Amino acid sequence: MTLYGDRPMLIGGELTTGSGDEWITSLNPSTEEPIGRVPAGTAQDVARATEAAAAAQPAWAALTIWERAAKLRALAAAIRDSAERVRAMEAADSGNTIANLGNDLHKAANHFDYFSGLLSELKGETMAALSSGFHMTMRVPYGVVGRIVPFNHPFMFATANLAAPLAAGNTVVLKSPETSPLSATVVGELCRDLLPPGVVNIVSGYGLPVGDAIARHPAIRRIGFTGSIATGLAIQRAAAEQTVKHVSLELGGKNPLIIFPDADPDRAADAAVAGMNFAWAGQSCGSTSRVLVHESLAAAVEKRLAERLAAIRVGDASDPESQMGPLNSAIHRDRVHALVEAGKTEARLVLGGSVPSGRAFERGYWLAPTLFGDVTPDMGIAREEVFGPVMTIQRWSDEAEMLKVANGTPYGLTASVFTNDISKAFHAIRAIEAGVVNVNGSRMHFVGAPFGGTKNSGMGGEECLEELLSYTEVRAVHVTL
Ligand code: NAD
Repeated sequence: MTLYGDRPMLIGGELTTGSGDEWITSLNPSTEEPIGRVPAGTAQDVARATEAAAAAQPAWAALTIWERAAKLRALAAAIRDSAERVRAMEAADSGNTIANLGNDLHKAANHFDYFSGLLSELKGETMAALSSGFHMTMRVPYGVVGRIVPFNHPFMFATANLAAPLAAGNTVVLKSPETSPLSATVVGELCRDLLPPGVVNIVSGYGLPVGDAIARHPAIRRIGFTGSIATGLAIQRAAAEQTVKHVSLELGGKNPLIIFPDADPDRAADAAVAGMNFAWAGQSCGSTSRVLVHESLAAAVEKRLAERLAAIRVGDASDPESQMGPLNSAIHRDRVHALVEAGKTEARLVLGGSVPSGRAFERGYWLAPTLFGDVTPDMGIAREEVFGPVMTIQRWSDEAEMLKVANGTPYGLTASVFTNDISKAFHAIRAIEAGVVNVNGSRMHFVGAPFGGTKNSGMGGEECLEELLSYTEVRAVHVTL
């Protein structure tokens, strides 16, 4: 028996192993030890979950907004109460460091508190058009919403992504990631205990068939997806082959951090390292992986980044002393290593680029914090999202040219700008193609401030009022007197 055993899915208010007989074994990425299993769900499981969600939705939407808010607040409290248990499970299951997981858990609970306070914003407008009638709008939930989440913040996404659709009066079928699937099963237990059956359904399994079945199901007319660009495009295609659906996408990033000549290199380097999210081994969509530094500061910034990266304590994610754990899975480790090896053939490796040395790293999916210098915009390492602990430094001398380089990838998620010159800062804010722009900081990301990308980084800001409203449709109503 493994540490966490067999962990069922939640369908129609019941914890179940589903209709298939295949299981997915979760390996601890720090040790490669099996720690638990989830059922590999099937298209039939998605159909059952959708049926249960559709049956539960009218009564859920019919609750008063205060009753619905109270249920969401109860979930927030239960998430907080389960934090200690989830932290240990999540560190072993994902490789995200236990010391930093508190942030993910608080954020998850905060989402429910935030959206439960916004329910009175589900309102329409009236228009003074004709005195012979009333002309107005109202907001209507879609019905059943599909949410498909990635591996990098498994518990946070499996919880937080439920909050807005539920608040808006929808029921949900959520697919957990196939690597690091264990903590989503805790969400299933909490939802079984606190919500009416069918309001939340959590199906574990692979993208094909589970995610694909969600994308194609005709009764699911609204999908919120977080993950890679390739999968986002596949979901749009699959959805479009069946019915007209509203699909919102939170996708990858290759996020520039721009340092102007007047910036303080220490502050900029600190923010670049903080923004890389090394506690998640750089596996964050908003990671500041692309440093664009003015040539006058390039040597100073490279030296500071190299010092800071060399000082990161890499180790087992379950050890509270570790500041960075392993990559999430063997497949992902192989992908990241291949990109780093290709990077070595084109750019100058400043630091890292291989598995750290020592017995602790003989097993597990490791890569030391890695820094490339003398990177140019055409190099693969400057263009592709690595989704690992890998930073690149590009020098610039001409501001207009630099802004073109900053915008020169298909991505547009986050950007950071370091300068004390207010004109340069505001010019950059206007010129940069990104959904989130930080000035003299990085990784600002909290509930209430929209988070989302432009271009191939996605569409549809989340964690804000617009996300709540996006889980409703507007209906125009004309009353003739
Ligand atoms: P992924 O796209 O491989 O998988 C995401 C989810 O989609 C998983 O649950 C997977 O099983 C499912 N899936 C796979 N194929 C599918 C298909 N054909 N149809 C439906 N579902 C399918 O992404 P990942 O590797 O788990 O996550 C990493 C990516 O996620 C990175 O690109 C990262 O930048 C992005 N991400 C973006 C945000 C954001 O907010 N913008 C946040 C976190 C991660």
